[in-house]
Amino acid sequence: MKRLSEKIAAIAPSATIAISDKAKKMQREGIDVISLSIGEPDFDTPKHIKDACIDALNRGETHYAPSNGIPELLSAISEKIRNENHFSCTPSQVIVACGAKDAIYEAMEAVMNPGDETILLTPSWVSYEPCVQIAGGRIVKHAVNQKTFQLDDSLGDRVNTKTKMIVVNSPSNPSGAVFDQKSLKLVADLCEDHDMYAMSDEIYEKLVYSREHVSLATIGDMAQRTITINGFSKSYAMTGWRLGYAVAPVEIIRQMSKVQQHSVSQAATFAMWGAVAALTGDQRCVEEMRAEFDRRRKYVISELNRMGYETAPADGAFYAFVKVSGDDMAIANRWLELGQVAVTPGSAFYAPGWIRLSYATSMEKLKDAMGRIRRVG
Ligand code: PMP
Repeated sequence: MKRLSEKIAAIAPSATIAISDKAKKMQREGIDVISLSIGEPDFDTPKHIKDACIDALNRGETHYAPSNGIPELLSAISEKIRNENHFSCTPSQVIVACGAKDAIYEAMEAVMNPGDETILLTPSWVSYEPCVQIAGGRIVKHAVNQKTFQLDDSLGDRVNTKTKMIVVNSPSNPSGAVFDQKSLKLVADLCEDHDMYAMSDEIYEKLVYSREHVSLATIGDMAQRTITINGFSKSYAMTGWRLGYAVAPVEIIRQMSKVQQHSVSQAATFAMWGAVAALTGDQRCVEEMRAEFDRRRKYVISELNRMGYETAPADGAFYAFVKVSGDDMAIANRWLELGQVAVTPGSAFYAPGWIRLSYATSMEKLKDAMGRIRRVG
């Protein structure tokens, strides 16, 4: 038989899968495993959002919609961007996709040419590199400062004539760090000086605790060269709805739109009506979830620090990033086998020597998990 795609064969399977498969197998065997490896809120989608979707279904919103998204949602997103993120945005600069992940994939396809380089700031979430590779580009990794999790001038050393884009993810999955104005300015200056694009994945923007979220597109003329990624999964507990979006200059949206038209066509019509309700409805649900994550964050970080573990600045998202001495894969395995606590080794995020714990689970389970980690050490 002829060989399958070399491009896809070259993509590494997710390093997180081995440990999560093992945790699932243990659960199937009846072992009481606590999973701190999940990247999704444990809350239900707020009722008014579900009701808006049900209403849409009942009034027959079950047909094809415009590929970029229903006009009501494009307007709601552009208004949100202007009011909350403070940069200019019209509905023609927005595309709604099947999750932020789909928006990231489409953006990479729209921007990358074979051989183009993208700077990835590590530790980094797992899907940027495969999206760049599928689009024919190449990743160049740059580690952030391992104490402050901020950037310094050394970032400039990664830039050459092939560099096309820098990916910024603040608040960060997996570190929970939030970039300060100085780090964002460094990225902006490099992009402007070397005519590069930026992707700013701001999906955790609503989950910030001790710093303010700043959109990269507000700095200098960055709105002209930034693809801002956002979505509903984390802010509104809507992971299964598969709704995300990108905001970018019209020409980039036009190219992304072609990828969307010829692949998924559009996000689900009735789901988009739920998203309209999410953005235009009462925002108290967002603050309630944030406050609960904050309570858990404080508990988990102080417990880990009391056990003697150093943690990354947990300023955002819902992850504690923990420094361990030794092989993070082996330690994650030990915590799973001896303590029945599933966590994600930092190696999965290009950060060996670290472990990611998600605190998007109940306080009761977190307390149990901290006791178990303390016992197995
Ligand atoms: N970006 C980051 C940093 C994420 O952590 C995730 C979800 N794990 C996504 C994007 C994708 O989110 P969505 O569910 O909207 O595809």
